[in-house]
Amino acid sequence: METGGGEDCCVKVAVHVRPLIGDERAQGCKDCVAVVPGKPQVQIGTHSFTFDHVYGSTGSPSSAMFDECIAPLVDGLFQGYNATVLAYGQTGSGKTYTMGTGFKDGYQTGIIPLVMNVLFSKIETLKDQTEFQLHVSFIEILKEEVRDLLDPPCLNKPDTANGHAGKVTVPGKPPIQIRETSNGVITLAGSTEVSVSSLKEMAACLEQGSLSRATGSTNMNNQSSRSHAIFTITLEQMRKLSPVSLGDSSPNESMNEEYLCAKLHLVDLAGSERAKRTGSDGLRFKEGVHINRGLLALGNVISALGDDKKRKEGVHVPYRDSKLTRLLQDSLGGNSRTVMIACISPADINAEETLNTLKYANRARNIQNKPVVNRDPMSTEMLKMRQQLEFLQAELCARGGGSSSDEVQ
Ligand code: ADP
Ligand code: MG
Repeated sequence: METGGGEDCCVKVAVHVRPLIGDERAQGCKDCVAVVPGKPQVQIGTHSFTFDHVYGSTGSPSSAMFDECIAPLVDGLFQGYNATVLAYGQTGSGKTYTMGTGFKDGYQTGIIPLVMNVLFSKIETLKDQTEFQLHVSFIEILKEEVRDLLDPPCLNKPDTANGHAGKVTVPGKPPIQIRETSNGVITLAGSTEVSVSSLKEMAACLEQGSLSRATGSTNMNNQSSRSHAIFTITLEQMRKLSPVSLGDSSPNESMNEEYLCAKLHLVDLAGSERAKRTGSDGLRFKEGVHINRGLLALGNVISALGDDKKRKEGVHVPYRDSKLTRLLQDSLGGNSRTVMIACISPADINAEETLNTLKYANRARNIQNKPVVNRDPMSTEMLKMRQQLEFLQAELCARGGGSSSDEVQ
């Protein structure tokens, strides 16, 4: 599915500082995060970190985030490049707000709703030359299990002998599995892929999935989810190329078409705080341990990839240690343009977690990816032949031979 040499590009990291929220104000919290004016630099205590961008507080306005960090990824999607956006940070730091994963009708801030808008307006302007197909999937990883957020529970109810209708909350479907194809592409087997053809349909998927997302209360934020949520948009396009002149004989249609396919993963990670801070026990504590497994593995992957010395030593990258890292394998050190948004609270009571987030995000900046255009092998072959043909035609012209395409034939 790929051609051409990929370009190395690093994972871009932006910090999003949210304002103090009601709860923190009520507790009399102080703002302990400073943004260096005019620089993408954050200071906390004696520590200072530089990122690709800093939004919020006295940094750039949050409204600039989309144009600077996300719009280029959407453009890339149309050129066949995969992309990933990850929101990282402690519970309550603004991940869901930033991503827009908590989508409700009429509440349309956040990256995902903006991506959908731009996507469809771009498609509108290109639809004369290109045929598009869009699919979305929305899953979450909770306690190392992949759950399908787009599969209505009433569709997968187990046999109800007594014929009672109604929602069954226990899914009867086999669990979704992560598979790797022979050419190294990671896929999800068994998750719903909804074909969408309008902004409204895509928004409905986001809303439906947001509602199904498991939420649990903890001491830190009773709204927050304990799971990683991944909203994936797959864009397939069949582009009509300007025909190569071959005289009157009309060549096979596919000669003049190019097929591209690219995926955009939009990831709202679970809270990065250590389990003990949720002050919970029993069931909730168990969830905390599992969340740490995904984020711990993510941290180890980032550490293996982001450390120059480790990379040169060819250290093992532990993608397989968790479902999250397995699924995001291509987004970290692979075939994807990736942006991480580190969300932080400015409140002094969160200083320790904020510092952890900044350290974690800082390491991620060193990760090198190698995105390539995802073109199908047939299109690749056709492209090569077209280039050869054009070269030969030019050669023929240069030799003063007849430039008519009849002679080429
Ligand atoms: P998380 O998903 O990281 O747990 P949320 O996105 O739920 O955090 O945010 C926690 C609270 O902070 C919410 O009430 C949200 O509305 C508010 N919030 C987050 N980011 C911002 C922001 N940039 N501006 C204003 N309010 C914000
Ligand atoms: Mg959240």
